[in-house]
Amino acid sequence: MKFTVNSEDINCSARIGMLETSHGEILTPIFMPVGSAGAVKSLAPDELITAGATIILGNTYHLYLRPGTEIINTASGLHKFMAWERSILTDSGGFQVFSLAKMNKISDDGVEFQSHLDGSRHFFSPAVSMEIQRNLGGDIIMAFDQCPPGDSDIQIAEEALKRTSSWISECAQYLQDNPTLYDHEQTLFPIVQGSIYEELRRRSAEEVIPYASCGVAIGGLAVGEEKGAMFDMIELLDGVLPKDQPRYLMGVGRPTDLVRAVRLGIDMFDCVMPTRNARNGQLFTSHGIVNIKNKKYKTDFTQLDDSCNCYLCKNFTRAYLCHLIRVNEILGLRLASLHNISYYLNLMAVMRVEISSGAFSSWAENYLNEMSHLKGM
Ligand SMILES: [Zn+2]
Repeated sequence: MKFTVNSEDINCSARIGMLETSHGEILTPIFMPVGSAGAVKSLAPDELITAGATIILGNTYHLYLRPGTEIINTASGLHKFMAWERSILTDSGGFQVFSLAKMNKISDDGVEFQSHLDGSRHFFSPAVSMEIQRNLGGDIIMAFDQCPPGDSDIQIAEEALKRTSSWISECAQYLQDNPTLYDHEQTLFPIVQGSIYEELRRRSAEEVIPYASCGVAIGGLAVGEEKGAMFDMIELLDGVLPKDQPRYLMGVGRPTDLVRAVRLGIDMFDCVMPTRNARNGQLFTSHGIVNIKNKKYKTDFTQLDDSCNCYLCKNFTRAYLCHLIRVNEILGLRLASLHNISYYLNLMAVMRVEISSGAFSSWAENYLNEMSHLKGM
């Protein structure tokens, strides 16, 4: 895998780059739609490609539970199983084990947990996570880390940091001893933890950066801490993380968060928000959030977003989408998801254009001013 920084903004840390994997080129900054269980909910691969997706996420925890590693291995990996020819990043399963599953015991060896589906008992260690991710065959695989809640005190945050640092070497060792199962390269991204504590963030970065060959992730943010603290940590890490590798901010966020984080040198994002909010009838548009279930849209025969070229905006009215979502038609969920993913991917494309033309700083300031009074953006 290779990363090239093509252009940098002179007034802030925003940059555009090109990440090349065995499954194609990814222009950064990029947003990665989340395909938790082997599908970006309700969308087909060709729809994602039309929307501009070049890389999507797969979830180790969900895919390990269902359909199970063996089936995906028999299918020759997740790319082939889900017929997605572009790049895939798989997470380590750690975040879901800590947030979704009923956690039984965490030790220096790993985490014992109960499935949120049927209560069955399982154990994830760095080696188990790597073994699953080898079977899934993502182009980018994530280190198994411990992500403490955003309001953790410094002792808990330090304990999580220590485990994360010791686990990254186990991950790297496993990958060295167990080569890829398919005919493409897999690159490990280490994860910086340390919660909202400056000295812990610095220490974590120092300890995991030696394992970064082409990319580092920032974990443990957007997990309940104050937003100001999140941006303080991103800004701090901007000065610490290698400039010649992509930086991935995990699980963030709202459109304005993306713009602010790009300004601080972040290159990669993922978040369930566009698809999850779509299913609740909440649409991101260039004029703010549209809660399409609202009865005022029942007779609104205008386009959802006049700045959007997605299939929904080109062909249907707000009134029609309002109807579909209110009566729970599957098409409504699909169109809403498609639009929100398009909004996020278009926003990233606009940022790349603004960075390359040297106008990003003023564009970002205008965007943030405009959106600051619009709730939910
Ligand atoms: Zn649209």
